[in-house]
Amino acid sequence: MPRHFSCCGIFSRDIILNKATPAAFEKVGRPQMPGEKKNIPPFYYQLSQEEIQQRGTEAKRKLGDDLLILCHHYQQDGTFWFADVSGDSLYLAQQAAKSTAKYIIFCGVHFMAESADIITHENQTVLLPDLEAGCSMADMADTTTVEKAWDYLANICGDQSIIPITYINSAATLKDFCARHGGTVCTSSNAHKILKWALDQNKRVLFFPDQHLGRNTANALQVEKDKICLWQRDLSDGGLSDQDIRDSKVLLWDGYCSVHCRFTSAQIEAVRKRIPDVKVIVHPECPEEIVQAADYSGSTNKIIDVISESAPGSSWAVGTELSLVNRIARQMAEEQQKHVECLNPTSCTCSTMYQVYPGDVLWVLENLVDGKVVNRINVAEDIKLGARQALEKMLKLSSQA
Ligand code: SF4
Repeated sequence: MPRHFSCCGIFSRDIILNKATPAAFEKVGRPQMPGEKKNIPPFYYQLSQEEIQQRGTEAKRKLGDDLLILCHHYQQDGTFWFADVSGDSLYLAQQAAKSTAKYIIFCGVHFMAESADIITHENQTVLLPDLEAGCSMADMADTTTVEKAWDYLANICGDQSIIPITYINSAATLKDFCARHGGTVCTSSNAHKILKWALDQNKRVLFFPDQHLGRNTANALQVEKDKICLWQRDLSDGGLSDQDIRDSKVLLWDGYCSVHCRFTSAQIEAVRKRIPDVKVIVHPECPEEIVQAADYSGSTNKIIDVISESAPGSSWAVGTELSLVNRIARQMAEEQQKHVECLNPTSCTCSTMYQVYPGDVLWVLENLVDGKVVNRINVAEDIKLGARQALEKMLKLSSQA
């Protein structure tokens, strides 16, 4: 049984993962400037929440088993309502790989829909409700810059001594790059297993784009601090000496998530003072000092699991994206009288995740009902082959004990 659906016995996680409450749905947002979404009739942003729900239900009914809607935890509530399946990047990639649906609508950001297109069969079509929904962290590693860094490193220590690992938050071209050089992909759920697999081969790892996930995972694997080096992408030598590179075990790209870098140690100290028995759980995209000051860290699925399985009445401060934290907080308050709050409630929404509006999803759905495919994600065939190998290797390594 997939971990996502394992249940603590008291509380069904399906509730939190798959259903937005009516109250939550009332908070559906609209684009501040609907005209910005030029190819979508503004009408879709003028519908009430109830109309969106009614029309969405009808469109889903007409498409039946031809349709699967995958939804990342960070989606806003009105969009989350459409989900057939929700989860973190690993779980959604696994579901895409297993699906036989003709159309997969991916409510998430661009790299996620790309991964779904790579991993599905050629008779399946993946659609992204807003083609401009990207990820600023993924944009911090482009293939040309990574290839230049690779050549530089290979000149110093030989390309056979390095394994590239890309976080799934990256372009398909980088997944293809990893496959060509014997590497693979990881998510925040399986980074520990994947990095261990690489290090067990006595090779050094070039890990991109997220330095924090890489560093936190290397720390958990007890890699010596002086063997973890930061490669600064704007410097031709990465800011490292040849000796640093030869001595390294993990070379971290200097990318980061602007959302998870907004958490601070001061916020953790403040919440511990205010709620003495609070537990703190954060995502491993947070900087090292935040992960070390927290009680737990893990992927969004792990965050949900740990809080779900905690004692009724417990208190939690969570360091991840605000839409998810608010959803967990509502559900836990209703079902288990647990108190859940965001470590930083003022500025931790992922703006690109948030830009997928319920009206966008409805527009894609109703076009499908009319036999029209809009906003298709179509990874070029020459990239797809390698990227698929890298993702399949990840799924295989993930499933091993
Ligand atoms: S939360 Fe951070 S890593 Fe995730 S999609 Fe948003 S910017 Fe990218």
